[in-house]
Amino acid sequence: MQQFLGLEVTGKLDTPTLEMMHTPRCGVPDVHHLRAVPRRSIWKRHNLTYRINNYTPDMKRADVDYIIQKAFQVWSDVTPLKFRKVNVGEADIMIRFAYGDHGDYSSFDGRDGILAHAFEPGPGIGGDAHFDEAETWSKSSQGKNLFLVAVHELGHSLGLGHSSNRKAIMFPNYGYIDPKKFHLSTDDIRGIQSLYGVLNKQGPVAKPHKPESAVCDLGLSFDAVTTVEDKIFFFKDKYFWWKLPESSTTTVSLISSLWPTIPSGIEAAYEVEGRNQLFLFKGDRYWLISNSAPQPSYPRSISSLGFPKSVKNIDAAVFNPSLYKAYFFVDKQYWRYDVRRQTMDPAYPKLISTYFLGIRPKIDAVFYFKRHYYFFQGSTQFEYDVLSHRVTKTLKSTSWFGC
Ligand SMILES: [Zn+2]
Ligand SMILES: [Zn+2]
Repeated sequence: MQQFLGLEVTGKLDTPTLEMMHTPRCGVPDVHHLRAVPRRSIWKRHNLTYRINNYTPDMKRADVDYIIQKAFQVWSDVTPLKFRKVNVGEADIMIRFAYGDHGDYSSFDGRDGILAHAFEPGPGIGGDAHFDEAETWSKSSQGKNLFLVAVHELGHSLGLGHSSNRKAIMFPNYGYIDPKKFHLSTDDIRGIQSLYGVLNKQGPVAKPHKPESAVCDLGLSFDAVTTVEDKIFFFKDKYFWWKLPESSTTTVSLISSLWPTIPSGIEAAYEVEGRNQLFLFKGDRYWLISNSAPQPSYPRSISSLGFPKSVKNIDAAVFNPSLYKAYFFVDKQYWRYDVRRQTMDPAYPKLISTYFLGIRPKIDAVFYFKRHYYFFQGSTQFEYDVLSHRVTKTLKSTSWFGC
């Protein structure tokens, strides 16, 4: 339990452990051996119904209706799931307020302690969420905030287990934060999208979620960044975020849901504008995506581009449309590739520091946009003017997301 909750593992009932044990929490047990988690059950349909069976006397009914709807929306905003409220009959997710023993062999314990519990997806009681009526429920910091607890319990209703990440709403213990400032943590989003994905068959769905929710939270570097037609793609691990440059709407997706044959951990990417060609690099291999479709006869070895065998992977790549050249950054050096002639330019590699003044190795990612290169290094981004050959701005790596 100490390990799961992120406490020092002493094996003793020391003060931090006792404090954590006495914090109000969810009644769903923590899974201690994360690697042994069996396959989680999920809903096979994306259109689900819910019903609020009874109401707490602590709050106005309209407030309960609104809060439950908002709690569902938190999850539908980042997945293809859709929720519809019904008022009669059996819904997939039945919501109840109940005291003590309420017929499911998981009695509530009076005020504090266990606040609520919910059942994983399935028929009958599966998916149902129960709230301990012995708590005082509210829409504020008084008593227990219904919205925060509902978001957590509905996470279970959709198949999520507990998270040991304290920033996650799926952390088992209750802690109040202002619901207006609430957003899912990256951990929560990864969890729910690993169960339901984020895309439907039409490709990326405009499923906007507030930019501050996931990307700003990351506060870390990107693996690769590139324009893709009128959008910018930011790659990180098995995810990519995409957005229109001028829009505040950001969408996060799994790379595998857009391109099932492309691996996670893309290290460099560039687009040949006008040809609708996107090149993705990982290790000593690269892939061509043309008009959104991964092309057969890829991946190919980067040695076919003219790299020596000593180059095992590429840190970053960018295409300059006015020169029609691609630049490849590897440690302290860079190569220049002639895209028309399909050969590496002679006299390369050169040192990054001698041509790209103000840019120091190593480069995580770079893309070209409106006569500027945007270099990413850790949590920093440099705007570099292509014509005057100098850094014109230093930005946060997440500046494109309004962070
Ligand atoms: Zn829970
Ligand atoms: Zn129950």
